[in-house]
Amino acid sequence: MKNKISFYAIILIIILSFSSLILADQVHRVSSGDSLYLIAREYGVTIEEIINKNNLKNGSSIVPRQVLIIPEKSVYYVQAGDTLAQISEKIDVNMDDLIEVNKITNPGLIYPDQILKLPEQKKEQYIMKTSVKTYRIKSGDTLYSISQKFGVAINNLITLNNIQEPKNLTIGQKLNIPEYTFSELSTMYPTNFFHHGDTTSNKIALTFDDGPDTKYTPQILDVLNKHEVPATFFYLGKRIQKNPQVAIRTVQEGHVIANHSWSHPELTRLNDLKVYDEIKETEIAIAKSSGPQTGLIRPPYGLISQKIMEQLKNLNYRVIQWSVDSRDWQDQDVDQILINSIPDIQGGGIILFHSAGGKKQSFQATVDVLPELIYTLEVQGYEFVTVDELLDIPAYNN
Ligand code: ZN
Repeated sequence: MKNKISFYAIILIIILSFSSLILADQVHRVSSGDSLYLIAREYGVTIEEIINKNNLKNGSSIVPRQVLIIPEKSVYYVQAGDTLAQISEKIDVNMDDLIEVNKITNPGLIYPDQILKLPEQKKEQYIMKTSVKTYRIKSGDTLYSISQKFGVAINNLITLNNIQEPKNLTIGQKLNIPEYTFSELSTMYPTNFFHHGDTTSNKIALTFDDGPDTKYTPQILDVLNKHEVPATFFYLGKRIQKNPQVAIRTVQEGHVIANHSWSHPELTRLNDLKVYDEIKETEIAIAKSSGPQTGLIRPPYGLISQKIMEQLKNLNYRVIQWSVDSRDWQDQDVDQILINSIPDIQGGGIILFHSAGGKKQSFQATVDVLPELIYTLEVQGYEFVTVDELLDIPAYNN
């Protein structure tokens, strides 16, 4: 028993000593009696930072059970008896940095309730979403030389091509090279390429890729049904063929089904005919189950090139990308999905989720996060619609 207590004591000490080091965003669930001021103090941030992080509207109030994303600690509220040395130890920030950032001339003179700014942390590098063109690796090429040749960051090349061993490039291997940003594409193809709707509206759209399966898609449909939220499902043809009942149910419950290819390849690596087959086979599967030919498509991984864009436009498709990536395929954790999503949500937003995945992949956190996310966004005044309604375009051809 005594051993057990000391074991827990050690765990507690470890947790306490790490808790001051936590610099990542956190989730706060509002309870009754909470105010922005109290929350800001509790986490060592400013009210304005919470408002900005969550895109809260001016003067909006917070309500119990609402989720707030708390940004990294940016300030420290001085407590009675604190000295700079203690503070720097407590929050693990270099004392000289504290003095410099706060332009403190006399380190002995700090007072309770004074707000000390903390030095800024390095931010994760944001990689711009783009269309791609392909480049075949030649002898003598390195990631560095390719990055120079196309003016692209090496990190971006690594991510786009899922490169595990940057030093082992294979001659003849095809690399995806960034081409146009999503914004550029929506300017080039104003009636056929979309990654968000009207940012001044209060409408947003949930989208779910890669279903239908019989495990997670039905659970997601249950949640949406319960909360009366319509959504758009980008389904794979081969999974519609396998689980037609789930596709039929999706349409019957007021959702929109859209095309996400037959087998989820990188379309940019296929020739025109193969791209065409991927799309048409999916339409045939849709026609055999849930009904009319969809007018909406999302290429697997969002990967597209101008060439494929032209082909899809000629086939009368509207390409639907996203403005908010929940990264639920990567982070199967309710809080992390909230942290990934909420700060990027604004009016006209298209939010990317998945309703199915690989054989061993779980999407339970996606199912579990939905009620909380829906509630939080509804109390912020958002209305959920299908993508076609968000963009005022037809969902189906014919
Ligand atoms: Zn997908």
